[in-house]
Amino acid sequence: MAKYVFVTGGVVSGLGKGITASSLGLLLKSRGYKVFMQKFDPYINVDPGTMSPFQHGEVFVTADGSETDLDLGHYERFIDEELNYTSNITTGKVYSSVIEKERRGDYLGATVQIVPHITNEIKNKVYEAATSSGADIVITEIGGTVGDIESIAYLESLRQIRDELGKKETFFIHTTLIPYIYGSGELKSKPTQHSVSELRSLGIQPDCLVCRVPFYMDESVKQKLCLFCSIPRENIIEAVDVPNIYQIPINFYEQKMDEVVLKQFGLPTKKADIKYWKELIKTVDNLKEEVSIALVGKYVELHDAYLSVMEALKHAGYKYNKKVIIKWIDAEELENTKNLNETFKDVSGILVPGGFGSRGINGKIIACKYARENNIPYLGICLGMQIAVIEFARNVCGIKEASSTEFDEMCPEPIIDLMAEQKSIINMGGTLRLGNYNCKLTKGTLAYKCYNNKEIVERHRHRYEFNNKYKDILEENGLTFSGINEESNLVEIVEYKNHPFFIACQFHPEFKSRPTHPHPLFDSFVKASIDLKIKKK
Ligand code: GLN
Repeated sequence: MAKYVFVTGGVVSGLGKGITASSLGLLLKSRGYKVFMQKFDPYINVDPGTMSPFQHGEVFVTADGSETDLDLGHYERFIDEELNYTSNITTGKVYSSVIEKERRGDYLGATVQIVPHITNEIKNKVYEAATSSGADIVITEIGGTVGDIESIAYLESLRQIRDELGKKETFFIHTTLIPYIYGSGELKSKPTQHSVSELRSLGIQPDCLVCRVPFYMDESVKQKLCLFCSIPRENIIEAVDVPNIYQIPINFYEQKMDEVVLKQFGLPTKKADIKYWKELIKTVDNLKEEVSIALVGKYVELHDAYLSVMEALKHAGYKYNKKVIIKWIDAEELENTKNLNETFKDVSGILVPGGFGSRGINGKIIACKYARENNIPYLGICLGMQIAVIEFARNVCGIKEASSTEFDEMCPEPIIDLMAEQKSIINMGGTLRLGNYNCKLTKGTLAYKCYNNKEIVERHRHRYEFNNKYKDILEENGLTFSGINEESNLVEIVEYKNHPFFIACQFHPEFKSRPTHPHPLFDSFVKASIDLKIKKK
């Protein structure tokens, strides 16, 4: 039987609930427990796949092809476990499944209601996460803030779970804000008291408070929280602002947060194996020198749209003791930039990440061409691979009208095109090529050198593909197709050998990067960028 930790949020959004949940997950795993994580998103979309990155940030893709909230990326990076379709539950999913059952007649004539039908569905999703993963402990984060209309059914479900299983099997964490009032110079506990009383009005008494606070609190503030919120003193955890999120598990470890949870569960506190994480923090705190990488995208004002890419770059930097500085370049602005040398003068690598639609395409092609012609390391991801192929076809092979049918449906040279099976699909949600696919690498190529492996598996999220009709002509001109999905004969990786480092992949390597083991492509790309910087000195 699994035990359940629930993480709710109070006072304001954006307090780092996801990082709190992930940090606890890491600590429990470090004590030898199998941990699985799950997030409830109370919005009505079935998944974030159809939402604009400006609304939602990145869509994180799990190995089984689920399009999920970006918090799942934190979960995977912290606990280093593959999550799945049970890890991100939305109101859209819950209601779809209840309505489907109702149409099938499963409810045998009953009036279908929020309690018990929707709440039962939600509870089943919690239990399903436990059974599908076989975890000892499942941590569920509830999106939004207590008091939101949308989250009421979720909180009611958790209240019922506590009633059914009791306190030894369930643990409620409430994350809140302790604001500092300038002038009076005080940290204030009142918003937290209100938030806890809101939670209690829904029948939930939290077991632990994680307080986001600008600096450590005085004992008197903590005593107030204990008294007004009925929380034992050792269950009040401080989440002090830190410059690097990977520091947070260590801060929680020092406050014995994981021990508090295990104690309530009546589970033994085995010795924590977190030396490797402490070493990571030491590395991050002592990075020597910087390396600057241009990220050319169209959602650059919202860095969260590229969260896993940013993290993957940082991870590779850690390996070489370098701080990766991202130079954000708006692809559309690049289209009108006269002096590219000026734009790229201080960067040692150029990355074109994934994206959808035609806006900013020409700017990305300009960036890719600049990297190719000026021997600057280039990493293209998904759309960044499609761009690389189009640029090469146009400017090296002379196929001037080469394009993707995504940007120009009638394009005469559809070098990137829809797969036959995609052509008949009308629904937008969940219909991309998603999740894990195999890729076979050719010996002697850069891709093979990066991975040092013949067979790899990577996560995908795209609809368009390289059109194999153009393979020969591109190859004759020096492009190498170094990674192929043999089952469907689809191109997965291209590279250009007359260049120090030019590689692009149809999949998303960023999802598999971890702080202590960077992804091979990011690793080699950042290394090549560092080498270029050293050469230029
Ligand atoms: N828009 C492109 C496609 O659908 C690329 C997708 C992406 O970059 N994730 O194929």
